[in-house]
Amino acid sequence: MSSTISNVLLCCALSLPLAVAQERIEAFEPHMGTMFRIVLYADDAERANHAIRAAFDRVADLDNKLSDYKPDSELNTACRVAVGRVVTISADLATVLQASQALSEATDGAFDVTVGPLIRLWRRARQTRVLPSPEALAEARRLSGYRKLRVGERTLRVEIPGMQLDLGAIAKGYAADEALRLLAGRGFPRALVAASGDLAIGDAPPGKAGWDIGVDSLNSPDKDFTRTLQLHNAGVSTSGDTEQYVEIEGVRYSHIVNPATGKGLTRRIGVTVVAAKAIDSDGLATAASVVTEQRGAAAAMALIEARGATGYITVK
Ligand code: ADP
Ligand code: MG
Repeated sequence: MSSTISNVLLCCALSLPLAVAQERIEAFEPHMGTMFRIVLYADDAERANHAIRAAFDRVADLDNKLSDYKPDSELNTACRVAVGRVVTISADLATVLQASQALSEATDGAFDVTVGPLIRLWRRARQTRVLPSPEALAEARRLSGYRKLRVGERTLRVEIPGMQLDLGAIAKGYAADEALRLLAGRGFPRALVAASGDLAIGDAPPGKAGWDIGVDSLNSPDKDFTRTLQLHNAGVSTSGDTEQYVEIEGVRYSHIVNPATGKGLTRRIGVTVVAAKAIDSDGLATAASVVTEQRGAAAAMALIEARGATGYITVK
């Protein structure tokens, strides 16, 4: 009998360290023109902080590759040198461009990363509050079109000089995925990486079925979240015109462009997508916004579901 009791005591003593709660660690850092946030659970804070440092460094590395703002990013350099000839690109750039081109094919060009010249026109319009001229719009549209972009296994070729790629609709999702992957590889799978509206979500927090994610497609005036999802191992993205838009002559133009017209979306559309990865949710949320303006919310929902994801669409 006494040996049974001591076995029980031993067992309890051994199990004690497992009962110690993991610490929640949170960190913020600005990257890609927004604030990145990492949350993870760890029982070794020092190791966790090293992993977080490496994850942010990985995001910075991706920004150097994928940025359209940085003149010497791999993206901008490749665009200049790949005119009429095939150049080799990094695996990261190839991954993002392949995902982008697949989404362009699936949406008949509603999603299109070659809209860079149009994006720049509308960026200027947001600053000056003057509409782009019809001539400038026509020229920017001439330089756009995903079929003028050839992406191979690890190669890129652009068909005409002056093409400008813009990965603003998909790069943050990929960066969040990559940061999350790095954290898991270092032994911290219970983690979440958020890049404003794009979230890469890992294993659930200790003792929970998932991370509580508040979703509000179009911010309501009281800023309350309209629903809460409990998620793990997923990507979640929200696209909407609530933060970046310009109002000119009574019309509100979003920073998301309808490639069919060259103009910013004018309907107030909010889309949240839950997919397996944030690269997919990010691209799909933007794509579904354009499809909603072009063909309605039902067509956009069909697109999301055809790609194995879940969507929430609000049209005001
Ligand atoms: P946010 O950047 O606000 O998180 P999105 O993920 O929807 O929102 O991305 C919007 C960005 O996508 C724009 O700022 C622009 O860089 C780019 N973009 C705009 N229109 C398109 C489009 N039709 N296809 C692909 N990318 C686009
Ligand atoms: Mg997006």
